[in-house]
Amino acid sequence: MITEAVRRAAGRLAAEGGLPAFVHDLDALRAHAAGIRDALGAAGAPEIFYAAKANPDARILAALAPFVDGIEVASGGELAHVRNVLPDARLAFGGPGKTDEELDLAVREAERVHVESPYELSRLAALGQDVDVLLRVNLAGDREGVALAMSGPFGMDPESIDACLDVLGGAPRVRLRGIHAHLASGLDADAMLRQSAEILGWARPWLGRAGCTDPEINLGGGMAVDYADPAARFDWAAYGRGVAAMARPGERLRIEPGRAVTVYCGWYVTQVLDVKKAHGRWYAVLRGGTHQIRTPVTKDHDQPFTVIPHDGSGPSMGAGRVTLVGQLCTPKDVFARDVPVARLAVGDVVAFAMAGAYAWNISHHDFLMHPKPGFHYLDGAKTL
Ligand SMILES: *Cc1c(COP(=O)(O)O)cnc(C)c1O
Repeated sequence: MITEAVRRAAGRLAAEGGLPAFVHDLDALRAHAAGIRDALGAAGAPEIFYAAKANPDARILAALAPFVDGIEVASGGELAHVRNVLPDARLAFGGPGKTDEELDLAVREAERVHVESPYELSRLAALGQDVDVLLRVNLAGDREGVALAMSGPFGMDPESIDACLDVLGGAPRVRLRGIHAHLASGLDADAMLRQSAEILGWARPWLGRAGCTDPEINLGGGMAVDYADPAARFDWAAYGRGVAAMARPGERLRIEPGRAVTVYCGWYVTQVLDVKKAHGRWYAVLRGGTHQIRTPVTKDHDQPFTVIPHDGSGPSMGAGRVTLVGQLCTPKDVFARDVPVARLAVGDVVAFAMAGAYAWNISHHDFLMHPKPGFHYLDGAKTL
């Protein structure tokens, strides 16, 4: 589960007093991204736009860039950041609640704008600039079993999206290029294929009626990641085969995964400060906390981890179950609850896996004013 390079780096950081730290294995990221690319195949393969919100770390974006076709950004801040890191990247700009300033930036810097409502489309048209848009549709339907259904204010109902045609009729510089749909997160390849078929089944006739030739259809992200099984991977090959079978000449398909691309390349590495029993349960208090890796709190899961024994003096526990907590003064600061360990002692290093997406960048860093973690990147010969 933990790469050898990360294990070595963790040992070194512990010896130097450099924990907690995020350690990113860029070599592993490149290998994973190349695997996705290969699995999706060549001819007729969907384009991949990486969803920057999963992890916009500059080093990660730069490592990923050769393996993706573009980047999807969801705010003016992300757009400015990605443009700065990757001056030549193809960008798509999406997301709810775009301000006028963001629309203006999107028109200038993004090759596609994903439109969330007829009103947003009219505000875009009012800028009077050339812009290529995809209209975001939110298809109702059964999303049972998904990690996160994008119900609510995202995109437009299929019944109300026709209102966009009236706006487009009076906006010659706004070009309708296709449909965008991101309906759910946490779908395995079969479920993702069923959803992709549903999107295509709705989008093709609608775009035909709208007179959109050479349509583009963005099938969204949300490819499953299993925190309970860190070795499991989304079946990109099956998804690629299925999408290739659905693709039609003359149309361009695109996906915009985030989590499933970068989650495996990051570790949050920290160290045990105290081991104690409270009300009959074992607790280990670790440096840092969920203000640095909020993932286990938002997902309400146990963050997978590896214990690396390290010399220390202080209390320990033998084989048993333990709750791993951080340094925050709140009972919610839990990395993993009642999880089995063979042994755990003060000074041991705990490397939390699957910390490469929706980890540091979604966390409330300043709560309690603890020191910030270090950031390290394992990168071939330049490795730590
Ligand atoms: C968050 C998001 C994605 C990426 O989702 P993942 O679950 O990280 O793959 C893609 N598209 C849109 C519109 C999003 O909001």
